[in-house]
Amino acid sequence: MERRDCDALVLFGATGDLCYRKIFPALYQLVRRQLLDIPVIGVARQGSEVDGLRDRVRKSVQEFVKDPDTAVVGRLTGLLRYVDGDYNDRATFNALRKALGDAQRPLHYLAIPPSMFATVAEHLSATGSATSARIVVEKPFGRDLASAQELNRTLHKHFPESSIFRIDHYLGKEAVQNLLYFRFANSFLEPVWNRNYVASVQITMAETLDVAGRGRFYEEAGAIRDVMQNHLMQIVALLALEPPVTIEGEALRDEKVKVLRAVRPLRPAQVVRGQYAGYRKEQGVAADSQVETYAAMALAIDSWRWSGVPFYLRAGKRLPVTATEVVLDLRPPPANVFGDFGPELPNHVRFRVGPDVAIALGAHTKKSGPVMTGRDVELFVAQQQGADMDAYEVLISAALIGDTTHFAREDEVEAAWAIVDPVLRGLPAPYEYVAGSWGPPQAEKLLQGPCGWHNPGARAQDWTRSCARVAPD
Ligand code: NDP
Repeated sequence: MERRDCDALVLFGATGDLCYRKIFPALYQLVRRQLLDIPVIGVARQGSEVDGLRDRVRKSVQEFVKDPDTAVVGRLTGLLRYVDGDYNDRATFNALRKALGDAQRPLHYLAIPPSMFATVAEHLSATGSATSARIVVEKPFGRDLASAQELNRTLHKHFPESSIFRIDHYLGKEAVQNLLYFRFANSFLEPVWNRNYVASVQITMAETLDVAGRGRFYEEAGAIRDVMQNHLMQIVALLALEPPVTIEGEALRDEKVKVLRAVRPLRPAQVVRGQYAGYRKEQGVAADSQVETYAAMALAIDSWRWSGVPFYLRAGKRLPVTATEVVLDLRPPPANVFGDFGPELPNHVRFRVGPDVAIALGAHTKKSGPVMTGRDVELFVAQQQGADMDAYEVLISAALIGDTTHFAREDEVEAAWAIVDPVLRGLPAPYEYVAGSWGPPQAEKLLQGPCGWHNPGARAQDWTRSCARVAPD
């Protein structure tokens, strides 16, 4: 990896929600860790001055950082500059060029509506601020395969691929990076990590939240576009990829692309969509909205390692808990030497990816007593997140030094869109489900095998699962 640190950070969308909730607190932490000491230039159009931006940063830190250190806040606000203007106006970008002064390698962070990405990239290029610069683009990266390809073409007119950092904040999460570490830093998993031992894989990303006042935004997205094409496909890639030669450079991203390309594009029968009762009454939501707030899908991967192993994915809002978990079920032993063995659950490997971090191995042990009968147990390891860096901190600091490892590459984003693209249009209306339930019962039909969906609990240890199939209606 070529290490060339950026010498200025430009925040487009400095008055927006993402900067306020995520980016400013991350910048505070980077200053605290002495990883950020370059000018930070906010660009927005609210007619304010640098003092307005300083106030907003102070408020954000006050709200989202526990016990902030006033000296660190002072150092952060001391780095701030501000350029006011509309992104459609070339004058804004001339003013930005001036504000950049001697900076040669700015990092432009586009925390703005995706409809503005192309305009901003073009103006940056025309005013000389794209040369030797890097650009961070937020999700969503397109709305389907064709628009993602178009956006890639537009960005490539002004920035080489090595300078484009497509954020999927899941890739900055400690727990998601731990999936990779756990897989490849241990030797005991590799012999079973394949179609000979793994029966199926489930990934559930559950949220208790509704659309939280962002109904208008959500109407343009839905669960498949909002979280499945990006976050969940990234988890699939990390679970299923072949060992990269090294974690540095392009090796990891090469392997992710290979596995995503081996996923069969979805057919409608492999997808169940749901919508929680009451969604259509949310602000900004159409009275006859067909947008899904829940989706479940069964993926098939046509690779040597995974052929025949279904990967079941599920994501939804207004579910009983907020948690993301991955479960790999192993096949049963070849013979049951104990006759009726008691335990019901398959052996499994379970990763809790959020909100806390845990890894567990599901096994069978003998119940005490004279009879050789068993019970289900879990070998459980929990890791507290207290001192960990937030995903935005990890990703901003990586972009500043030019490390693309945990950002999505052009071909990776397009491969992920190619999987979901056939089911983005023309599906039957979503099934309604009761808010606070685990989604529409029709999703059970997707599963093959003896067990239903694995339901994460509010605490990492409290998951539930039934191995008696729920009868679909
Ligand atoms: P907001 O609508 O809150 O903020 C948008 C920002 O862009 C504002 O600062 C706005 O300025 C500025 N802006 C828009 N158009 C112009 C223009 N023509 N000229 C000057 N400034 C302009 O959006 P978010 O912060 O919520 O989201 C930003 C990006 O991040 C989006 O791509 C979104 O999808 C993505 N994202 C957001 C998440 C979130 O939690 N908010 C999570 C993940 C991704 P003004 O206030 O003056 O209009």
